[in-house]
Amino acid sequence: MGGALPKRRAAVLLPYPFYGAFDYAVPPGIDVTPGDVVSVPLGRRTEWGVVWDAAGDGQVADARLKPISAVLAVPRMADNLRRFVDWVAAYTMSPPGEVMAMAMRAAPHGEGPIAHGWRIVPDAPVDVRVTKERARVLAVLADGAMLSGPDLARAAEVGSAVIRGMARAGLLEPVALAQRPLFGMPDLVRAGPVLGAEQEIAARALCDAVKSRTFSVSLLDGVTGSGKTEVYLEAVAEALRSGRQALVLLPEIALSAQWLERFQQRFGTMPAQWHSDLSPGLRKRTWRAVADGSAPVVVGARSALFLPFPDLGLIIVDEEHETAFKQEDGVIYHARDMAVVRARFESAPIALVSATPSLETVANVEAGRYHELTLTARHGAASMPDIATVDLREAPPERGKFLSPQLIAAVNETIAAGDQAMLFLNRRGYAPLTLCRSCGHRMQCPQCTAWLVEHRHARRLQCHHCGHQIPTPETCPECGAAHALTAIGPGVERITEEAREVFPEARIQVMSSDTIEHPSQTTDAVRAITERDVDLVIGTQIIAKGWHFPHLTLVGVVDADLGLGGGDLRAAEHTVQLLHQVAGRAGRAEKPGRVLLQTFSPEHPVMQALVSGNLAGFRAAEAAARRPGNWPPYGRLVALIVSGEDAHAVDKAARDIGLAAPRMDGVVVLGPAPAPLALLRGRHRRRLLLKARKDVAVQKLVHAWLAGVQLPSRVRVDVDIDPVSFM
Ligand code: ADP
Ligand code: ZN
Repeated sequence: MGGALPKRRAAVLLPYPFYGAFDYAVPPGIDVTPGDVVSVPLGRRTEWGVVWDAAGDGQVADARLKPISAVLAVPRMADNLRRFVDWVAAYTMSPPGEVMAMAMRAAPHGEGPIAHGWRIVPDAPVDVRVTKERARVLAVLADGAMLSGPDLARAAEVGSAVIRGMARAGLLEPVALAQRPLFGMPDLVRAGPVLGAEQEIAARALCDAVKSRTFSVSLLDGVTGSGKTEVYLEAVAEALRSGRQALVLLPEIALSAQWLERFQQRFGTMPAQWHSDLSPGLRKRTWRAVADGSAPVVVGARSALFLPFPDLGLIIVDEEHETAFKQEDGVIYHARDMAVVRARFESAPIALVSATPSLETVANVEAGRYHELTLTARHGAASMPDIATVDLREAPPERGKFLSPQLIAAVNETIAAGDQAMLFLNRRGYAPLTLCRSCGHRMQCPQCTAWLVEHRHARRLQCHHCGHQIPTPETCPECGAAHALTAIGPGVERITEEAREVFPEARIQVMSSDTIEHPSQTTDAVRAITERDVDLVIGTQIIAKGWHFPHLTLVGVVDADLGLGGGDLRAAEHTVQLLHQVAGRAGRAEKPGRVLLQTFSPEHPVMQALVSGNLAGFRAAEAAARRPGNWPPYGRLVALIVSGEDAHAVDKAARDIGLAAPRMDGVVVLGPAPAPLALLRGRHRRRLLLKARKDVAVQKLVHAWLAGVQLPSRVRVDVDIDPVSFM
């Protein structure tokens, strides 16, 4: 080694589940700054990564250090975002590289696409033959116009060969096209609606928070239809006025057609959208537009949280109580909670918006950490719907049917009055269970602990967990009996069949993820409903979401008890939230709405809360039930999911983990026990649940716990901090 100078080194984080960053040498002639995106050798390949720290830990000897190959032309990852990534990784106990990848995978590595186009060569040779097709091309490009190849071919109605031929003949030459900005600047001069008094107070508070450029959390809590969206759009406008960006997180972006329309009406332009259905090209261009600030507003699903905003001025989490904000695979995180953390790193305010806020958020309000802004009344002349139960024990539907006489009468009245009705059942398909009347055999998924759901229209039995499907058999696979397989219980398809019999004249629109697969289909369905081409809407939870259907006056909930089974800690809370949301679709304009909940237990606190509208009282009762046992939000939970293909190995690993469980004050470990989905996609699953007092640093505890257990390589342990699903 002689007197060689020590090599300059940098720690580079790679987009893989490695434990941390790797050291690389910084060769002469290259300078790197933390956040730079670089290409580096990894084994025999070249990989990209992000310079995480200027200096590595020096554990790798100089001689073994490989050099960074190049600094890529990708916007540098800001310090705020890198600190956020580290924080999320530590909190969720995930490899930092995997979290970093969520932020950077869509980055356009290397040069961004430069669009090429064509124009007429100014002093083109005159002796070239000009066919009719060529003449059309010249006409389109007259007056110095420049068009991309595909656009030119379309406008001149010629094939691309014609254009290439003209280039060879010296008639056309290629030019670089200037990229038009992808996203327009929202019109901030255009006035929003005149806000009501309560709205005004809430909007002013949010705008002040934006102006202060400091971190704060507000809960915007208002009944459905109270105008929360209008309020937070004012705050979005304020962020843009101060030259900063705004991020709006929605639970399911595929269902946001009406939201986008409202944004367009308010601001005269579309926001950037971010979700899993973007094409790779649009994804890269959107990522870059966010990074260079030319996307002023982003509306997106949870992954939008990791976008490279250079100057984020506001985050909105709409429907903050929705479980869809919890990502359940890969890096398991709750986008609402992580959004609060991102806001803190960006010194920006965040507003959590809901008509039925989660107990977690309400506990934070009560502890004084979040401010509460409340809208108590619906906007304008609209009033809250009248909610009543239908006791299925007293007035049951006809045998083998699911709509009670009372609900049928109400639908008939509504349609006769020229209004619209909605039937809600949160279950896809025709029937959740198929059973053999002859031998009692139940059709089950071979890979999951789940019944196969009949989809009669598609003539298939489907597993809703793994996608396994078979054609609906004619005979029982167990006993061979013919015509003995019977559908048990209703799905939305079966309710539709019944509705077509009972309301033969009604124009019916079905909305479930089986009938609505693309955002454009949502738009069509929504338009048909708002333009009154529909009398009866039937659907799954898709129809519960923020829709504004002015002519809808009746909502019938086919099975209000559906979400209450099972051992989920939040079953009651989630049922209230979902049903309140569905109920909120009724009576959003001048005509009052009403809601009928079909239930076998009208006395249940959930039904009582919905009927009385006393949601605060319900929350208080829930809180009182959870507080003594340190259940969330008054304590912490960590779920461990042990899984593998070999049931014995999984059982043994789960037992070993159970035996090594920490024993200390304020900590309880439950399990191991078979997961409700004890078999999922062919993997056996066991669960353990750690429950701890709020002041326990659970990540450290779990880390030490698992470090002490020897696990076979074919058994995996997933750690779910703050679990929402207990399946
Ligand atoms: P929420 O988000 O609380 O459910 P919305 O913001 O969707 O309520 O408002 C419900 C309806 O009332 C929407 O059609 C909205 O455009 C309208 N609205 C709300 N506030 C106003 C206002 N101040 N002026 C006019 N229309 C309003
Ligand atoms: Zn399955």
